[in-house]
Amino acid sequence: MPEPEIRVILRAADDIIATGGRTLLSKILKGSKDRKLLELGLDRNPSYGFYKDLALAEIMDKVNRMIATGYLDTEKRGKLPMIVFSPLGWVIERERHAEEFLQEWDRWIESEITPISMEYLKERNRGMILLFLYKILCTGNTKYIPFLTLWEGIDFKKVQAEIRKVIDALNRRRLMDDSDWERLKRERAQSLLIRVQDPIFLACRKCGYPYLFDETNPDHYSSEGLRFPERCPRCTDNGQI
Ligand SMILES: [Zn+2]
Repeated sequence: MPEPEIRVILRAADDIIATGGRTLLSKILKGSKDRKLLELGLDRNPSYGFYKDLALAEIMDKVNRMIATGYLDTEKRGKLPMIVFSPLGWVIERERHAEEFLQEWDRWIESEITPISMEYLKERNRGMILLFLYKILCTGNTKYIPFLTLWEGIDFKKVQAEIRKVIDALNRRRLMDDSDWERLKRERAQSLLIRVQDPIFLACRKCGYPYLFDETNPDHYSSEGLRFPERCPRCTDNGQI
Protein backbone atom coordinates (compact mmCIF):
# COMPACT_ATOMS: atom_id res chain seq x y z
CA MET A 1 0.00 0.00 0.00
CA PRO A 2 1.34 3.50 -0.83
CA GLU A 3 2.88 5.32 2.14
CA PRO A 4 0.56 8.36 2.10
CA GLU A 5 -2.45 6.03 2.38
CA ILE A 6 -0.81 4.15 5.23
CA ARG A 7 -0.38 7.44 7.08
CA VAL A 8 -3.98 8.49 6.45
CA ILE A 9 -5.34 5.21 7.80
CA LEU A 10 -3.05 5.32 10.83
CA ARG A 11 -4.26 8.87 11.54
CA ALA A 12 -7.87 7.72 11.29
CA ALA A 13 -7.15 4.86 13.69
CA ASP A 14 -5.45 7.11 16.23
CA ASP A 15 -8.74 8.46 17.58
CA ILE A 16 -10.28 5.05 18.22
CA ILE A 17 -7.36 2.98 19.50
CA ALA A 18 -8.63 0.15 21.71
CA THR A 19 -12.13 1.66 21.64
CA GLY A 20 -13.29 1.02 18.06
CA GLY A 21 -13.14 -1.84 15.60
CA ARG A 22 -12.54 -2.27 11.89
CA THR A 23 -16.04 -1.15 10.91
CA LEU A 24 -15.79 2.14 12.79
CA LEU A 25 -12.36 2.77 11.30
CA SER A 26 -13.70 2.12 7.81
CA LYS A 27 -16.63 4.44 8.46
CA ILE A 28 -14.32 7.29 9.47
CA LEU A 29 -12.42 6.85 6.22
CA LYS A 30 -15.70 6.70 4.31
CA GLY A 31 -16.95 9.90 5.93
CA SER A 32 -20.03 8.18 7.27
CA LYS A 33 -22.82 10.12 8.98
CA ASP A 34 -23.35 7.25 11.39
CA ARG A 35 -24.80 8.62 14.66
CA LYS A 36 -22.29 6.95 16.96
CA LEU A 37 -19.44 8.29 14.85
CA LEU A 38 -20.80 11.85 14.95
CA GLU A 39 -21.45 11.66 18.70
CA LEU A 40 -17.81 10.76 19.23
CA GLY A 41 -16.79 13.78 17.13
CA LEU A 42 -14.93 11.50 14.71
CA ASP A 43 -16.02 13.66 11.78
CA ARG A 44 -13.28 16.04 12.97
CA ASN A 45 -10.60 13.42 12.38
CA PRO A 46 -8.32 14.74 9.56
CA SER A 47 -8.75 11.44 7.70
CA TYR A 48 -12.56 11.63 7.82
CA GLY A 49 -13.99 11.04 4.33
CA PHE A 50 -10.59 10.35 2.75
CA TYR A 51 -12.12 7.40 0.86
CA LYS A 52 -15.54 8.93 0.33
CA ASP A 53 -15.71 7.61 -3.23
CA LEU A 54 -15.04 4.02 -2.26
CA ALA A 55 -17.60 1.49 -1.05
CA LEU A 56 -17.39 0.55 2.60
CA ALA A 57 -16.39 -3.02 1.66
CA GLU A 58 -13.44 -1.70 -0.37
CA ILE A 59 -12.31 0.44 2.54
CA MET A 60 -12.65 -2.55 4.84
CA ASP A 61 -10.30 -4.43 2.47
CA LYS A 62 -7.71 -1.69 2.90
CA VAL A 63 -8.08 -1.83 6.68
CA ASN A 64 -7.64 -5.59 6.58
CA ARG A 65 -4.55 -5.16 4.44
CA MET A 66 -3.14 -2.73 7.03
CA ILE A 67 -3.59 -5.47 9.62
CA ALA A 68 -2.16 -8.18 7.37
CA THR A 69 0.92 -6.11 6.54
CA GLY A 70 1.59 -5.34 10.19
CA TYR A 71 0.70 -1.63 10.51
CA LEU A 72 -2.38 -2.21 12.63
CA ASP A 73 -3.45 -4.95 14.91
CA THR A 74 -6.59 -5.98 16.75
CA GLU A 75 -7.01 -6.82 20.39
CA LYS A 76 -10.03 -8.32 22.08
CA ARG A 77 -11.68 -5.92 24.52
CA GLY A 78 -14.75 -7.62 25.90
CA LYS A 79 -16.30 -9.51 23.03
CA LEU A 80 -15.10 -7.42 20.14
CA PRO A 81 -11.71 -7.05 18.50
CA MET A 82 -10.57 -3.43 18.75
CA ILE A 83 -8.04 -1.67 16.56
CA VAL A 84 -4.63 -1.07 18.11
CA PHE A 85 -1.32 0.09 16.65
CA SER A 86 1.29 -2.52 15.89
CA PRO A 87 4.80 -1.46 16.98
CA LEU A 88 5.51 -0.44 13.37
CA GLY A 89 2.27 1.56 13.06
CA TRP A 90 2.94 3.29 16.35
CA VAL A 91 6.46 4.32 15.36
CA ILE A 92 4.98 6.06 12.29
CA GLU A 93 2.18 7.71 14.31
CA ARG A 94 4.54 8.72 17.09
CA GLU A 95 6.70 10.50 14.54
CA ARG A 96 3.66 12.36 13.20
CA HIS A 97 2.59 13.45 16.68
CA ALA A 98 6.05 14.71 17.59
CA GLU A 99 6.40 16.52 14.27
CA GLU A 100 3.00 18.19 14.67
CA PHE A 101 3.91 19.40 18.15
CA LEU A 102 7.07 20.95 16.72
CA GLN A 103 5.20 22.63 13.87
CA GLU A 104 2.65 23.96 16.34
CA TRP A 105 5.44 25.56 18.40
CA ASP A 106 6.87 27.06 15.21
CA ARG A 107 3.50 28.63 14.41
CA TRP A 108 3.11 30.00 17.93
CA ILE A 109 6.62 31.45 17.93
CA GLU A 110 6.10 33.00 14.52
CA SER A 111 2.85 34.67 15.56
CA GLU A 112 4.32 35.60 18.97
CA ILE A 113 1.80 33.56 20.89
CA THR A 114 2.82 32.18 24.26
CA PRO A 115 0.65 29.28 25.36
CA ILE A 116 -0.98 29.84 28.74
CA SER A 117 -0.01 26.39 29.85
CA MET A 118 2.04 23.41 28.72
CA GLU A 119 -0.22 20.99 30.56
CA TYR A 120 -1.27 19.48 27.24
CA LEU A 121 2.16 17.86 26.99
CA LYS A 122 1.85 16.10 30.33
CA GLU A 123 0.83 12.46 30.61
CA ARG A 124 1.35 11.85 26.92
CA ASN A 125 3.06 8.75 25.67
CA ARG A 126 6.60 9.06 27.02
CA GLY A 127 8.29 7.74 23.89
CA MET A 128 6.51 10.33 21.75
CA ILE A 129 7.29 13.20 24.14
CA LEU A 130 10.98 12.33 24.26
CA LEU A 131 11.03 12.13 20.45
CA PHE A 132 9.52 15.65 20.40
CA LEU A 133 12.39 16.79 22.65
CA TYR A 134 14.88 15.09 20.38
CA LYS A 135 13.47 16.96 17.39
CA ILE A 136 13.74 20.26 19.25
CA LEU A 137 17.33 19.44 20.14
CA CYS A 138 18.18 18.61 16.51
CA THR A 139 17.07 22.05 15.34
CA GLY A 140 19.84 23.56 17.47
CA ASN A 141 17.61 26.62 17.71
CA THR A 142 17.46 28.65 20.94
CA LYS A 143 14.05 30.11 20.01
CA TYR A 144 12.41 27.14 21.73
CA ILE A 145 13.99 27.80 25.11
CA PRO A 146 11.18 30.00 26.56
CA PHE A 147 8.62 27.28 25.74
CA LEU A 148 10.89 24.55 27.09
CA THR A 149 11.27 26.51 30.32
CA LEU A 150 7.50 26.82 30.64
CA TRP A 151 7.13 23.12 30.00
CA GLU A 152 9.85 22.20 32.47
CA GLY A 153 7.81 23.89 35.19
CA ILE A 154 4.86 21.54 34.92
CA ASP A 155 6.08 18.11 33.92
CA PHE A 156 7.23 15.10 35.95
CA LYS A 157 10.79 14.84 37.27
CA LYS A 158 12.06 12.44 34.61
CA VAL A 159 10.83 14.58 31.73
CA GLN A 160 11.98 17.75 33.52
CA ALA A 161 15.52 16.40 33.65
CA GLU A 162 15.46 15.70 29.90
CA ILE A 163 14.02 19.14 29.14
CA ARG A 164 16.81 20.77 31.16
CA LYS A 165 19.44 18.85 29.20
CA VAL A 166 17.92 19.99 25.90
CA ILE A 167 17.86 23.63 27.08
CA ASP A 168 21.46 23.30 28.18
CA ALA A 169 22.48 21.78 24.83
CA LEU A 170 20.72 24.52 22.82
CA ASN A 171 22.49 27.16 24.90
CA ARG A 172 25.84 25.56 24.20
CA ARG A 173 25.22 25.00 20.49
CA ARG A 174 26.89 28.18 19.23
CA LEU A 175 30.01 27.47 21.28
CA MET A 176 30.44 24.06 19.70
CA ASP A 177 31.86 23.03 16.36
CA ASP A 178 29.81 20.76 14.12
CA SER A 179 31.51 17.53 15.07
CA ASP A 180 31.04 18.19 18.80
CA TRP A 181 27.41 19.01 18.12
CA GLU A 182 26.91 15.78 16.18
CA ARG A 183 28.47 13.87 19.04
CA LEU A 184 26.18 15.54 21.55
CA LYS A 185 23.09 14.75 19.46
CA ARG A 186 24.08 11.08 19.26
CA GLU A 187 24.69 11.01 22.98
CA ARG A 188 21.28 12.53 23.75
CA ALA A 189 19.62 10.13 21.31
CA GLN A 190 20.47 7.34 23.75
CA SER A 191 17.94 8.59 26.27
CA LEU A 192 15.50 10.43 23.97
CA LEU A 193 14.87 7.77 21.33
CA ILE A 194 13.00 4.97 22.97
CA ARG A 195 12.37 1.52 21.69
CA VAL A 196 8.74 0.43 21.44
CA GLN A 197 7.70 -2.54 23.55
CA ASP A 198 7.92 -5.22 20.87
CA PRO A 199 10.62 -5.42 18.22
CA ILE A 200 9.83 -4.16 14.72
CA PHE A 201 10.82 -6.30 11.79
CA LEU A 202 10.99 -5.04 8.23
CA ALA A 203 11.46 -7.09 5.09
CA CYS A 204 14.65 -6.36 3.18
CA ARG A 205 13.90 -5.16 -0.35
CA LYS A 206 17.02 -6.82 -1.66
CA CYS A 207 17.16 -10.28 -0.12
CA GLY A 208 13.62 -10.42 1.27
CA TYR A 209 14.69 -11.51 4.74
CA PRO A 210 13.26 -9.82 7.82
CA TYR A 211 15.59 -7.65 9.87
CA LEU A 212 15.22 -5.62 13.03
CA PHE A 213 14.40 -1.93 12.69
CA ASP A 214 16.26 -0.03 15.38
CA GLU A 215 14.18 2.98 16.52
CA THR A 216 17.04 4.21 18.68
CA ASN A 217 19.20 4.96 15.65
CA PRO A 218 19.14 8.76 15.12
CA ASP A 219 19.79 8.29 11.38
CA HIS A 220 16.15 7.28 10.91
CA TYR A 221 14.90 10.66 12.10
CA SER A 222 15.11 13.59 9.75
CA SER A 223 13.24 16.86 9.41
CA GLU A 224 11.35 15.26 6.51
CA GLY A 225 10.06 12.49 8.72
CA LEU A 226 10.89 8.95 9.59
CA ARG A 227 13.16 7.12 7.16
CA PHE A 228 12.93 3.36 7.01
CA PRO A 229 16.04 1.62 5.73
CA GLU A 230 15.24 -0.29 2.54
CA ARG A 231 17.77 -3.04 3.01
CA CYS A 232 18.91 -5.24 5.83
CA PRO A 233 22.30 -4.40 7.40
CA ARG A 234 23.92 -7.34 5.61
CA CYS A 235 22.86 -6.14 2.15
CA THR A 236 23.80 -2.55 3.07
CA ASP A 237 27.27 -3.62 4.24
CA ASN A 238 27.88 -5.59 1.07
CA GLY A 239 27.14 -2.42 -0.88
CA GLN A 240 24.77 -4.25 -3.19
CA ILE A 241 22.18 -2.30 -5.11
ZN1 LIG B 1 18.93 -8.08 2.79
